[in-house]
Amino acid sequence: MGRIVYLNGEYLPEDQAKVSIFDRGFLMADAVYEVTSVLGGKLIDFDGHVVRLARSLNELGMKNPLSRADLLEIHRELLRVNEVVDGGVYLQISRGAPADRDFVFPDPVETPQTVVLFTQSKPGITDSPSARDGIKVISIPDERWARRDIKTVQLLYPSMGKMMAKKAGCDDAWLVENGLVTEGTSNNAYIIKGNRIITRNLSNDILHGITRAAVLRFAREAQMEVEERPFTIEEAQSADEAFISSATMFVTPVVEIDGVAIGSGKPGRNASRLRDIYLEESRKNAI
Ligand code: PLP
Repeated sequence: MGRIVYLNGEYLPEDQAKVSIFDRGFLMADAVYEVTSVLGGKLIDFDGHVVRLARSLNELGMKNPLSRADLLEIHRELLRVNEVVDGGVYLQISRGAPADRDFVFPDPVETPQTVVLFTQSKPGITDSPSARDGIKVISIPDERWARRDIKTVQLLYPSMGKMMAKKAGCDDAWLVENGLVTEGTSNNAYIIKGNRIITRNLSNDILHGITRAAVLRFAREAQMEVEERPFTIEEAQSADEAFISSATMFVTPVVEIDGVAIGSGKPGRNASRLRDIYLEESRKNAI
């Protein structure tokens, strides 16, 4: 039996949930999304995702069709009916399906937004080989649009980046603009030098990761120094450690960049410690 998913106010079997071919999410990538991780049946950093969703919608001039309470209820109901223990909830809101294809935004009164949520079950998600062994990344030019702070469904270039990495026998790609690393294809990028964590400062150039905010808070609480500034691939290659963060990968060590081993070539002590702290604290605060 397939999943039960949420579409515009209804809980439906996944094969009965249909969206119009005129939906602007489908035709124009005119949609925003969030992915909230689930551990032990509970939502990690739910409020962070709700706040960022509201910001993404606002930046695109879309209204927010659901309150925090509505969103929480839908997330929890989907977890319950689909019996998800570990995994995540995907949420997408598009500008809806007007009567015809048109670049101009439709009247929001005539065209209701399309709201979709579904669960993804990933048992044992925290014991992944990538967490144990670390991941290898390549660098590629950052050829995305200039508003990467808005979490839109324009994911073609990140998908291409993952495919380039796969072709090179690696796990992911770090994106480079003007000689400096912006972020990973679907995660934020960090290096560690001694006791100092270095990650790019927030701006329109990167997504403001919810996991990033939590990781930097925990790092400071654990007496690590945090420096928010851009860095080059060369600086990363000579760092002691490197790692990425995202809602689905938590904190995952990076052990190789463009064929160069980072530190010992094994997951570093500080990155592994941060992962443990992140998971422990997140489980504690999950709702
Ligand atoms: N950067 C990009 C480009 C992403 O797509 C993501 C997650 O999808 C992240 C960073 C990490 O964000 P979060 O920690 O909120 O999952």
